Amino acid sequence: MNIYGVLGYPAKHSLSPAMHNAAFKKCGIEAAYKIFEVPPVKLPVFFSSLAVKNISGFNVTVPYKETVVRYLHKISEEASFIGAVNTVKIVRGKLHGFNTDGEGFVRHVKEGCGMSFTGKTVAVLGAGGAGKGVCFHVCREKPKELRIYNRDRAKSLTLYNRLLQCFDGIRVKVIANADDLCLRDADMLINATSVGMRPSDGMIVPRPALHRGLFVYDLVYNRNTALLEAAGAAGCRISNGLGMLLYQGMLAFEVWTRKKAPKECMEESLRRALRRR
Ligand code: NAP
Repeated sequence: MNIYGVLGYPAKHSLSPAMHNAAFKKCGIEAAYKIFEVPPVKLPVFFSSLAVKNISGFNVTVPYKETVVRYLHKISEEASFIGAVNTVKIVRGKLHGFNTDGEGFVRHVKEGCGMSFTGKTVAVLGAGGAGKGVCFHVCREKPKELRIYNRDRAKSLTLYNRLLQCFDGIRVKVIANADDLCLRDADMLINATSVGMRPSDGMIVPRPALHRGLFVYDLVYNRNTALLEAAGAAGCRISNGLGMLLYQGMLAFEVWTRKKAPKECMEESLRRALRRR
């Protein structure tokens, strides 16, 4: 039996086992998806025992998305751009790293929400791991303009420079202050920061800047954030990050198995696992 799992610390609250075990069963694949909760001091032992444990691949979550890169033999273009990996596939003992977060986000917006980025003005909050993946994939969709705000401006400037190197003719702006995002003429606002994860969190953009024509997406999936509540009240179309979680998982499943991921079954198990939390 092939073994897959999620590597993190902590990892026991992950929703991924429910989603992937349901998918393996649905597709008749003899595999099990486990939780690898590994403290930093035991990380080298985890990597040296992959073959003995018959591990064929794994997802990576906090705090190891960047740390694992040094253990890999090969890394995808996107994961290399982001400098972080969320999916590892093991082929004949060699570890290949991927990052499915940004593509998961774009696919959910396009297929799940029925929206297009092409020709749109898109504002992204955050230039951390998730923000970089989101910006990379949004740029592939040929938006009219991408505006990036990050609390630490140096990070948004680094991201800006790398996007210009990767995408010819792309129009990107770094915004120093969230109040200056000019959301009045934007089509989409994406929160890719961790602000909103805790119940006490507020929102980064000023409430009056939200308007009916804005599609607001928050990557946070475990709760309805202050941003989504304010956006809903302002008449915006909104989405939380649960669909992104689903799509990044479907992409990981496809990387490992080369089979089409069973979307409905994975979505249903994800929702059920979330309700049980
Ligand atoms: P990360 O690499 O640690 O980046 C955190 C980001 O949040 C940075 O841009 C950071 O800005 C910003 N931030 C944190 N506290 C802030 C504050 N008080 N005010 C303003 N900005 C603040 O984390 P990540 O992996 O990118 O994850 C970001 C969010 O995306 C998390 O909520 C995570 O759960 C979510 N996510 C969701 C999915 C999904 O499938 N739905 C997938 C991946 C991530 P600085 O650089 O200035 O510190």
